[in-house]
Amino acid sequence: MEAALLTDAQRDVQDLVRTFAEGEIAPHAASWDREHHVPLDVIRRLGEIGLLGVIVPEEHGGSGLDYTSLCLVVEELARHDAGVSVAVAVHAGLCVAPLLRFGTPTQQAAFLPRLATGALLGAYALTEPDAGSDTASIRARAVRSQGGWRLDGTKTWITNGGFADLFVVFARTGGAGARGISAFVAERGVGLDSGKEIPKLGLHTSSTAEIVLDGFAVPTDGLVGTENEGLKVALATLDGGRITIAAQACGIARAALEIAVSYAQDRSAFGGPIARFQGVQFPIAEIAARLDGAWLMVLHAAALRDGGLPHAQAGARAKLVASRVAVDAADVAVQTLGGYGYSAEFPAERCYRDAKITELYEGTSQIQRLVIARSLLGDAARG
Ligand SMILES: Cc1cc2nc3c(=O)[nH]c(=O)nc-3n(C[C@H](O)[C@H](O)[C@H](O)COP(=O)(O)OP(=O)(O)OC[C@H]3O[C@@H](n4cnc5c(N)ncnc54)[C@H](O)[C@@H]3O)c2cc1C
Repeated sequence: MEAALLTDAQRDVQDLVRTFAEGEIAPHAASWDREHHVPLDVIRRLGEIGLLGVIVPEEHGGSGLDYTSLCLVVEELARHDAGVSVAVAVHAGLCVAPLLRFGTPTQQAAFLPRLATGALLGAYALTEPDAGSDTASIRARAVRSQGGWRLDGTKTWITNGGFADLFVVFARTGGAGARGISAFVAERGVGLDSGKEIPKLGLHTSSTAEIVLDGFAVPTDGLVGTENEGLKVALATLDGGRITIAAQACGIARAALEIAVSYAQDRSAFGGPIARFQGVQFPIAEIAARLDGAWLMVLHAAALRDGGLPHAQAGARAKLVASRVAVDAADVAVQTLGGYGYSAEFPAERCYRDAKITELYEGTSQIQRLVIARSLLGDAARG
């Protein structure tokens, strides 16, 4: 996306990820999608060139860059492969970020250097079969045991779940409701197993798995933040994570727009390019304008976060808007390609399948509206 608003360091990281994505991802993305191949080697190589440790401070072996830079990485990757982009968004935004904000110095020293290089790949395990939007109703339990905690329960829809080495995981340590949940960080080990990979509409290059906790031992110093206040960790993390998903949505939308533009210029009908028809031009123009708006919202939300300012509202708004632009852009791409838009041999249909997820995870669009409405309307919105 436009570099005019970026610092030199941000432009450098954008150039780095662009070169990598165009060389190592773009040529293979369509076949990986068809084969449901999760390109773990590519994800690890992103670690080797510093792109998994973008927000990890230099003293912990990372690149020491800001959240805006992470959004640039996710957007650029999503332009070519939405699955690879969400692997990075979750690793950095949902595993590195809560350790940076809530982790103890011991946890940070133990995990951040390896997360920065990709020696450890991270995941975030909150959702359960009966608890998605209603995060306060999770049932996985953590009970004190000798030397720490034992966790039991089932998590579902866990991105990177098939291969992640390190989990930020949420379990109930107190009574029912929002105040009885704690956050833990622990490496994969006995008692934590990846269950089945969940077949999906799109995002075929992303691992999405169940995680079964069966007496999983977490040491005492694996508690992240305050006991029974883990939901605050979960929700504050998602406040930032949503900005990266909005960036992902912008990357998918940009891909769709580029597909539509190039096809409209090349395809002929009724004696000339279809680009001369207003019915083809206007939807493309509309998406271009809306995408600019969505991207500025991403940059704004990320800048607030980088400045240490409240960003929950800006993040929710950016995700709400950007995810709809992604879905609409993919629709315009399919429509512009006509029958070929429906063909699995042309790229528009992959955008169409991948775009929808941005309206679902890290809070559905209804939940973003709820967050926004409650902040505007206060107690009156709670009924
Ligand atoms: C591909 C994929 C990857 C994911 N990755 C992760 C991950 O890494 N870690 C993780 O913890 N989770 C992950 N998730 C889970 C995801 O965040 C949840 O699916 C999402 O939050 C919605 O929860 P749910 O599916 O249980 O839907 P539900 O909460 O059951 O919602 C069903 C419908 O009801 C609506 N709804 C619910 N409550 C309200 C309300 N109060 N007001 C209005 N409408 C409402 C919802 O918007 C939705 O339309 C992932 C999901 C997918 C599909």
